[in-house]
Amino acid sequence: MEIRKFATYCNTYVLLTDSSAVVIDPYEFTPEIDALLNRSGIEKRAVVLTHGHFDHIKDAALVREKTGAKILIHKCDEECLLYPRFALCALFGQSLEPFSPDETFEDGDEIKVGDITLKVIHTPGHTKGSCCFKTGNLLFTGDTLFQGSIGRTDFPRSDVKEMITSLKRLKNLSGDYKIFAGHGEETTLSAEKRQNMYLLRV
Ligand SMILES: [Zn+2]
Ligand SMILES: [Zn+2]
Repeated sequence: MEIRKFATYCNTYVLLTDSSAVVIDPYEFTPEIDALLNRSGIEKRAVVLTHGHFDHIKDAALVREKTGAKILIHKCDEECLLYPRFALCALFGQSLEPFSPDETFEDGDEIKVGDITLKVIHTPGHTKGSCCFKTGNLLFTGDTLFQGSIGRTDFPRSDVKEMITSLKRLKNLSGDYKIFAGHGEETTLSAEKRQNMYLLRV
């Protein structure tokens, strides 16, 4: 599987095989992302959201409109799409047309998009419906875990206690993972277990 990263407001990732494409957190639907989603042979497309904050969802509906991709989000963050004030639009000085996801998922679900499968790990704390996605030895962590840091827990729908539980869960994953976070650079779970003071403390 090929992974392309586009750093705009957040990190947008495009996962590609010969026949399937998944866009994680499309803040901006760039011409490059459009070209990847329309690469010849691609038959299945989806937008998968790590959580419902504005800087991760802004162009999700546009991607759906232009490419036919379905939109998926954890059921607890669906309200961010339906009621944009929950997406923290005001914080970003922006507005967003409400939109519905095509599907919601829960902890333990397997999101299948053609031959791409993402296993859902519900990691609430930054938001109620924040999730990480696991595929092979890759882990997409959204705004839960960053290189050397974690997502903020001082927002209206944040919860510090839930974040601690979620970090413990990530720390206890067996094996190592390459981490693709919602902001910042790539890292690995083993490196974060050694160096990330938030992980060291839980
Ligand atoms: Zn966020
Ligand atoms: Zn973010």
